[in-house]
Amino acid sequence: MKCTRCDYTAAVASFRYLYNARIDDSVALRQCPGCEEWLAVDELAGETLQSVGPGEAPWGKSAGIEGLAGEAGQPEDE
Ligand SMILES: [Zn+2]
Repeated sequence: MKCTRCDYTAAVASFRYLYNARIDDSVALRQCPGCEEWLAVDELAGETLQSVGPGEAPWGKSAGIEGLAGEAGQPEDE
């Protein structure tokens, strides 16, 4: 995969793993070791999807976990 900001290119494992963005998809957040940019990564394809700024959720946050939690009748802070 390749950093979209500084063009650092390396295996996915070389990028620091942060967390899984979605429970129902292979998208994870990783951090570039070169410029520390946060990147959304397709873990299965090993491809960078896009860079992610603080607070952004370009993968469709509201369509995932929150909806399931609401249906279960266990409202949390989010
Ligand atoms: Zn970078």
